Amino acid sequence: MLIEKYELEVFTPPCDPGAERYAAKAHIETDISEVLPYLNATLRGAIYHPGANALTWKKGGRNIAFHSYEIATSNIEDREGAEKEIKGLIDLVNRTWERRAEIEPDTTTHQRPTPMAIYKLLPNTNCKQCGESTCYSFALKMAAAQRKITDCPLLTEQQYAEKLTELEKIVIEGPAIG
Ligand code: SF4
Repeated sequence: MLIEKYELEVFTPPCDPGAERYAAKAHIETDISEVLPYLNATLRGAIYHPGANALTWKKGGRNIAFHSYEIATSNIEDREGAEKEIKGLIDLVNRTWERRAEIEPDTTTHQRPTPMAIYKLLPNTNCKQCGESTCYSFALKMAAAQRKITDCPLLTEQQYAEKLTELEKIVIEGPAIG
């Protein structure tokens, strides 16, 4: 197990005093830098910053940052939720570390595609089969790593094969862990 002990800190972000939302940090005793390329290879939409030994990731509406000795997350409803969220992230790091022999580490810094770049490669029918009211809404969520390519059923149609190939090149979709 990579992380065995950590200290939890829950606080209201200084830029938003009195806010109803919380941020949380896990202060870790062990250096987790070595797991970051494995997380980069497996977390959809993660951005690795090798120079800073950091990896940022959006999960739902939360901004998550992994650093050498710290894991931080934002936008949490309450203290109990913060504890649960941090525990989930610690488990994710430990699971990824245990599976590292099966994962090809990735040290590149992926650029997140813009919603417009994604939108141009969608079928643009606004058919709503994905549950979104428009293709652009879908593109916004895909850019935030909240939707996957496979959530648009039309992309499997032959007429959109070229768009699908291009989309697969720009959207980073590893196994959706977490
Ligand atoms: S299912 Fe695909 S084509 Fe239909 S609205 Fe959603 S993104 Fe657009």
